[in-house]
Amino acid sequence: MILNEQIDKMTDIMASFIGYTAVHLPDDVVAKLRGLRDAEDDPAVLSIYDMMFENLRLASELGRPSCQDTGFVQFRIECGSLFPLLGDLENLLRRAVITATADTPMRPNVVETFDEINTGNNTGKCAPSISWKIIPEWDGCAIYTYLAGGGCSLPGHAAVLMPGEGYEGAARFVLDRIAEYGPNACPPLLIGVGIANSVDTAALLSKEALFRPIGSKNPNEKAAEMEIMLEDALNAMGIGPQGMGGKASVLGVNINNAARHTATLGVAVSTGCWTHRRGKIVFDRDLNFVTETHSGFTYAQ
Ligand code: SF4
Repeated sequence: MILNEQIDKMTDIMASFIGYTAVHLPDDVVAKLRGLRDAEDDPAVLSIYDMMFENLRLASELGRPSCQDTGFVQFRIECGSLFPLLGDLENLLRRAVITATADTPMRPNVVETFDEINTGNNTGKCAPSISWKIIPEWDGCAIYTYLAGGGCSLPGHAAVLMPGEGYEGAARFVLDRIAEYGPNACPPLLIGVGIANSVDTAALLSKEALFRPIGSKNPNEKAAEMEIMLEDALNAMGIGPQGMGGKASVLGVNINNAARHTATLGVAVSTGCWTHRRGKIVFDRDLNFVTETHSGFTYAQ
């Protein structure tokens, strides 16, 4: 296949996958929502979960997005240095977003700052947003996709704490933020927490924490313990699905951590809502692919 054909093919696969994730939630999110529903006995709370599942059923049946806010498209690319389309990814992902916006259809949400003009196709300056990691000596490419809704982005917050505040201070920071903003973000929420050196590193880590599978654990034992403590504390707040109360308020808590300056403790929180529309697709050099998050995704050549 010549280069231009490869670029067109990957663009088309990505447009289809982005559109698919707007309609269908990831397998692990659906399973978690089922589990949370089954653990409830309050009729009002059960009715909220049942509405969510009816919404998902209709979205799938009608080929319509699972939420009218199809978000701001964000990508995390983990690309091998030997992947043939490494230098073309940014442009082709931009084209894929434009196609997915027209075909799915997805609501145009992107407004150029200061000009305050909606671009109409979900792209703009630094939109879609992309964070990168290049993996040496690999010829494949993993792309994480995320449709970041407005409501579920609003609780996002980052700060640098005095190190004396410790991990107790970081936990308080997360709990205070979710207590104040969580009910508006369409719970049950996935909570991404970044613990690092500064606001920029902590914020990016907190967003990338939302790409981790539901139920996964931080490899650091103490961080994993903090994930469980925060999850228990957030559930004990009793926010529940759509703020209606209930036993669970979160889909989980994922912490991403990195080294810090001895005199700083950067902490950030990002949130995903019940329609947590993240995806992961992994390509080999010939553009064969697997979609780890969505077993139902197919692509007709
Ligand atoms: S928070 Fe999520 S479910 Fe609620 S409106 Fe925004 S995208 Fe939709």
